[in-house]
Amino acid sequence: MRCLVCRRLSWRYICPECQVEYLRPSVHKRTLLPGFDVVSFYAFDEIEELLKAKYSLFGNFIYKTIAKNSLTLFAQNFESQAFVVPIDARLNAMGFSHTAVLARTMRTKYLKPRYDALYASNDVSYAGKSLAFRLAHPRGFRYTGPTGDVILVDDVVTTGTTLKEAYAAVRRAGANPLFALVLADADR
Ligand SMILES: [Zn+2]
Repeated sequence: MRCLVCRRLSWRYICPECQVEYLRPSVHKRTLLPGFDVVSFYAFDEIEELLKAKYSLFGNFIYKTIAKNSLTLFAQNFESQAFVVPIDARLNAMGFSHTAVLARTMRTKYLKPRYDALYASNDVSYAGKSLAFRLAHPRGFRYTGPTGDVILVDDVVTTGTTLKEAYAAVRRAGANPLFALVLADADR
């Protein structure tokens, strides 16, 4: 096969050279609400083409590769107990959950993924929709995970509407959302 980034022949979807050069993360923090930040590792434009793999047969491999170069490194340096909660980890048409794939790469002795803790009761798609549309169609998140410190995980933040809703649902359930982690921020 060919590396998706440089198109050279490779036995991986993203060749080792491109993982070093192209997937070197740069950490960026955006405050969504007082006391609630989202940390991203890439600008959206940088990895937009790769993120489209979400809808392909090998999407889980691509997501895992990106996460191992970013979320995993973050997790390995995080030394306090918390639950890692992917946003709405339901299976997509390809039979995997892209957010669950991300959360799984963060498992350490301190960080425990909880894949089934946060679901949207309304599965409206926000992709390409305006802020007005997003605000008019809340996702209706419900958190059923443990109380304690929670790190929310998603692939992309754009307006932040989804993460703010998720934050509120976790708070309502008596848990403590620390911050959110995403691969890419569309606003950087
Ligand atoms: Zn390459």
